[in-house]
Amino acid sequence: MSEWDNKGCVTCRQKWLSGEGLIKLGVSDERHASLHYCSSCKTFWEQYERFVDTIAGDEAARVYGRETVSNLLELQSNFDPQNALEASLVESQSGRIPFVKFIEEMLKSDVFVLSSDEVNASSFNPVQYERSGEVFVAAFTSLERTKRIAKQFPYCLAIKASELLSRISPKVGVVLNPGWNAGFELPASGVNGIRRDFLH
Ligand SMILES: [Zn+2]
Repeated sequence: MSEWDNKGCVTCRQKWLSGEGLIKLGVSDERHASLHYCSSCKTFWEQYERFVDTIAGDEAARVYGRETVSNLLELQSNFDPQNALEASLVESQSGRIPFVKFIEEMLKSDVFVLSSDEVNASSFNPVQYERSGEVFVAAFTSLERTKRIAKQFPYCLAIKASELLSRISPKVGVVLNPGWNAGFELPASGVNGIRRDFLH
């Protein structure tokens, strides 16, 4: 096994080799390098002009700023991404990618909704929350995230987020990952905006 095969994981090595790369967290003019992070194996990488190499977290914090590194790690430690959608959510919430990019990723991904009755073609009553007179459907970015409230709601449905948004009423918003650090509330007006901008 060469040294390269011991760095990071298959996911991040593949991203470097394919030229896709990893999300950039910061830049060091002094080193002519940028800092990157793999959310699958939690490895920091540095990209130089001609090569990439891994860098220890404390060294990354020293060179690229403690804040850059600790913001990401804090979110990560409270919310360990289980899939590509969750990795994208963490990247969006730590300001690494625009929110719109996350929405695009979400619309083509499955989300999980809970229901107290069986879900079929004619009945669809996902768990809803009411807050200050607004109603929100609860959706989760992985099956794992539903478990905190799953006991009360025996049925779980995996549904494409684009389909979920087109099925809920225009008066209803969406709360993503209620009870978790990484998530947000989108009021009905926000959901209508997404329907208008992305789904027609
Ligand atoms: Zn990796």
